[in-house]
Amino acid sequence: MSTQDQAVGLLDNLALDLASGAVEVVDLTHTLDPDFPVIILPPEFGQCARFRMEEVSRYDARGPAWHWHNFSCGEHTGTHFDAPIHWVSGRDLPHNTVDSLPVQKLVGRVCVIDCEAETAADEDYEMDRAKIEAFEAEYGKIPPQSWVLMRTGWSRRRGADYVNLREDGAHSPGPATEAVRFLVDERDIIGFGTECIGTDSGQAAHADPPYPAHYILHGAGRYGLQCLNGLDRLPPTGAILLAAPLKIKHGTGSPLRVLALVPAAG
Ligand code: MN
Repeated sequence: MSTQDQAVGLLDNLALDLASGAVEVVDLTHTLDPDFPVIILPPEFGQCARFRMEEVSRYDARGPAWHWHNFSCGEHTGTHFDAPIHWVSGRDLPHNTVDSLPVQKLVGRVCVIDCEAETAADEDYEMDRAKIEAFEAEYGKIPPQSWVLMRTGWSRRRGADYVNLREDGAHSPGPATEAVRFLVDERDIIGFGTECIGTDSGQAAHADPPYPAHYILHGAGRYGLQCLNGLDRLPPTGAILLAAPLKIKHGTGSPLRVLALVPAAG
């Protein structure tokens, strides 16, 4: 059998498993909707636009046989991808924009660390290195070039509870600085994803460096995923993540459809 034949056979097996349901496709995306919250920065800074949609025609005088919309939004609206150029630490890296990054990185293994109990007890919970090492003791070492997702149950929140803004800023969970350094330096992850509105915790402006997930991930050419939906539907290991942002020229991120290939239970 030639090398080419073997490669075709591998994908045939995947296709058969998808057709039979042995491998399920799980959607980790929130619906783009004008009501979905966007991050709110202090008023002296520029703000991210919400999703907006207008009807162009609907089988009417504006277009008798067709229906379509125009839409607009910020790059960082809804379930979205952060490219390295999003942060000052990644501004000069090669292939740091959504249109130039290597697409081989956009499909990969995914480890899902369950922090739901910790988040239920403390909405400012920061996942530390010990939590990741406990995950690895149970499920094995995080393979190089994996996505790591922080499962918190936060995607079940709605409206103001999602941003959870108070007088002293937002309150939401995220990774500790040491955890991000560990994942990048010692586990060589592709990127880090969260159910919250940012890869950093709500209070991460006070960390050193400020917003350590953004600073460290993007400074090392790694990616972020935010506003993921329903991470409780993924196994801790064994799934494949597909996360391809829109190909926006010089774009710093984009809304996207995030899918996971998951072996069916049982
Ligand atoms: Mn973002």
